[in-house]
Amino acid sequence: MGIALADILAARRVIRGIADATPFVPSPFMTAVAGQDFLLKLENMQPVGAFKLRGALNAVMALPDTVAGVTCCSTGNHGRGVAFAAAMRGMKAVICMSRLVPQTKIDGIRALGAEVRIVGATQDAAMMESRRLCAAEGLVEISPFDDPQVVAGQGTIGLEMLEARPDLTMILVPLSGGGLAAGVSVAAKAINPRIRIVGISMDRGAAMHASLQAGHPVEVPEYASFADSLGGGIGLENRLSFPLCQRHLDAIVLVTEDEIRRAMQVLYFEDRIVAEGAAVVGLAAVLSGKVRPDGPTGTIVTGRNLDMETFTRIMAGQDVQIGEMTVKGERYAP
Ligand SMILES: *Cc1c(COP(=O)(O)O)cnc(C)c1O
Repeated sequence: MGIALADILAARRVIRGIADATPFVPSPFMTAVAGQDFLLKLENMQPVGAFKLRGALNAVMALPDTVAGVTCCSTGNHGRGVAFAAAMRGMKAVICMSRLVPQTKIDGIRALGAEVRIVGATQDAAMMESRRLCAAEGLVEISPFDDPQVVAGQGTIGLEMLEARPDLTMILVPLSGGGLAAGVSVAAKAINPRIRIVGISMDRGAAMHASLQAGHPVEVPEYASFADSLGGGIGLENRLSFPLCQRHLDAIVLVTEDEIRRAMQVLYFEDRIVAEGAAVVGLAAVLSGKVRPDGPTGTIVTGRNLDMETFTRIMAGQDVQIGEMTVKGERYAP
């Protein structure tokens, strides 16, 4: 099982007019910091507030009319994408999530008419429930990252970025299960084999990073994080996103909660953009000096579905409690 540029071109036709053509804009502040053109792919402007609509739509549209419905496990955004796509087709959707998912994501999914099941304290527990539903109710499971249609859908982002800026030398990709990084890598490297793709995760519970180091999928503990959308494992029986990340990722960089907090402030105060923690890790990697762009660089601002109370506290420079950890607030100063 692999995916090729042709699959991504096919996905583009499926999602056209619904989940494509988000803005790709320069950030003057980040360009000054990086010393290179620095551009933001604004997937936070998707109708469901995150890029996951691309892959979910491509996968749901590929199903025959006869299926009883769809299910998935999700840290929130994939579930919202699946719910949106299922509603378009008039299909039943059951979204399984753990207790770590913020309320705002649950509300967004329910508003689209899908059923929400909160099960357990980890993404793995949510995955088990989704699997059970497939067996018990005949629903079709759509993996958030280990599915060829999903990876092809996410890959359309890479096409759009390279078509707008063929001179990009590096793309910084927020990394969790690796569906986004896999799709973007396949698209971008088919167009320019020399482009560098760097995956960015939070420094606690980075499952793909641990798995690549081990040489096979491994489990990691799950922590609360500003980057809640990057939590969860990659699946011990991962067949697609792990090998693709193994082949295509040139590096992985890990950022701290404090670096994520600061990057959220930079994006808001300098570019006036609201984004969740997972969406700003590319900026955090450059702001912290962990990544040094050597040419025009793009990152994907992957989503905006965050708890607004947390957001306003961060912007006001107040301390924020995430799980057992207190992240010290600091008022923004350039
Ligand atoms: C899912 C998600 C990611 C990571 O995508 P993967 O394909 O799981 O690596 C990044 N940012 C946001 C906002 C997400 O919802």
